[in-house]
Amino acid sequence: LSISSRLQTILGSPHPDLDIRKQSLPEYLFSKLDEHSHRIALVDFESGRSFTYSEVKEYAVRIASALRKLGYKKGDIVAIHATNSLEYAILLLALPAAGITITASNSSFTAEELARNLDLTEAACVVTTPTLLPVVTEALISNFKIQTNIKDIITLGDVSGYKSIKTLMEDDGSAFPEDLQVDCENDIVALPFSSGTTGFPKAVMLNHRCMVANLQQLSYTLTTTPDDSFIAVLPFFHAYGMSVITYYAFAGGNKLVTLPKFDPGLFLQAIQNEKISLLHLVPPMAVFMVKHPMVNDFNLSGVQRAICGAAPLGETVHEEFISRLNINLTQGYGMTEFGPASIIDAIPASIGTVGKPVPNTLCKIVHPGTNNLIKNVGESGEICMKGPQLMKGYLHSSEATNETVKEGWIHTGDIGYIREDGNVVITDRVKDLIKYKALQIAPADLEDVLLKHPDIQDAAVIGIPDERTGEVPRAYVVRKPNCHVEEHQIQKFMKDHVAEFKFLRGGIKFTEAIPKTPSGKILRRTLRQEFLKSS
Ligand code: AMP
Repeated sequence: LSISSRLQTILGSPHPDLDIRKQSLPEYLFSKLDEHSHRIALVDFESGRSFTYSEVKEYAVRIASALRKLGYKKGDIVAIHATNSLEYAILLLALPAAGITITASNSSFTAEELARNLDLTEAACVVTTPTLLPVVTEALISNFKIQTNIKDIITLGDVSGYKSIKTLMEDDGSAFPEDLQVDCENDIVALPFSSGTTGFPKAVMLNHRCMVANLQQLSYTLTTTPDDSFIAVLPFFHAYGMSVITYYAFAGGNKLVTLPKFDPGLFLQAIQNEKISLLHLVPPMAVFMVKHPMVNDFNLSGVQRAICGAAPLGETVHEEFISRLNINLTQGYGMTEFGPASIIDAIPASIGTVGKPVPNTLCKIVHPGTNNLIKNVGESGEICMKGPQLMKGYLHSSEATNETVKEGWIHTGDIGYIREDGNVVITDRVKDLIKYKALQIAPADLEDVLLKHPDIQDAAVIGIPDERTGEVPRAYVVRKPNCHVEEHQIQKFMKDHVAEFKFLRGGIKFTEAIPKTPSGKILRRTLRQEFLKSS
């Protein structure tokens, strides 16, 4: 963007448009698997188990066939409630190959939270690990006033009385649907969750078109080769782990090293021993790598490049990362509803920005109140994006879809501006979303739980800044008359109902009233501004 084009505030990609394939995701990926059949595809770092690309394809075919024999058909939904593993990665291929839609939930969810996801997506089967099986069974048998359609539980490991993935992997493949007819626009590959700009978490319908488009856009922008290896510690249930890491690795013939959770020592050991060359990070991991002395004990010289996304990265951390570790670190920006990848910086990083749009992608800035286009470069407003990586919409929620997507533009709920050099800067977030360690927390979700407490009359939740984790949720609570419930009792109540990452780490403040609009909408931004002013 040059000075002479000051009024041209719709920013395009610096890259040429790509010819987006009209292929289904499995069609796109299976052709790539054949190209790389002898390469190592997956390594489980803890056990050392690994699969080549021909094994990945073979097992995906067998699992797809076995699921067909169990009666699952095109359009059915299978939920995965698990931590990262080799079999989870293979399922991400097997399910769409069988025409089945994937829905994946956060593996730290409580039974109650999981039950809500199963209810919303109408999943017919849950795949889980032996460790998480009690959460799944509790979600199915307890009375959360939720109906689920679950017919089968499949375990990623042997548990007596349950079908295991091993049995599915021993199938003869005879029922694999070779000529699956896919409607790339209407058939859904995956239903990850996002709260969008407001309200409760919603299932995001990612169709074949948007997923294939984003893989093409990413591969043009990142220019990796099959010799690059990645680490998959970021969870597969999030679009970053599922698409940007796993499907991208499958499309490129890359080695993907899986870890079930972030363990600092194992993470660094895996980078060193498996010679990870492209490191996928979220900001708290970048903070860890900059601050922790343990990092010096490892040889990370294999890392050519790191990308960090899913939440804001502080400029100081970014600079220290590059100078201390001597690794090219660039930011990527996106959201579950759009790709997820939409803006990625090139090497060397332009500190303080997330870079420029990926191919076939437009970015504009509008006034948050009026939606009028902001005509001046450098002036802040809401970031809107347009491109083929746009979701189909929110499941069962056309109202939320229409509020978020207008004339093909997704309103991101993020505030930022376009810099003179055409790089995008993210400065703030107007949507309600809280990001703790880059994981989504919907304030409405926590308020709903707080309101179930017998002594609470009203409640509001906001995110407050936290150096190490990004943001932590803080609650404002109005007690019922003559009720004297205390903070520790409410904290205990929350711990009984929500996953660990959603705990009210920002504390609870008792107040007389929650600020609201005349129509009753909570003014969370007012609370946030008041907090920032007073701190
Ligand atoms: P999710 O759908 O969980 O990926 O969350 C998307 C949201 O994460 C975006 O709308 C932003 O608020 C935030 N986000 C993602 N990437 C970045 C980034 N590089 N810088 C700032 N915020 C980001």
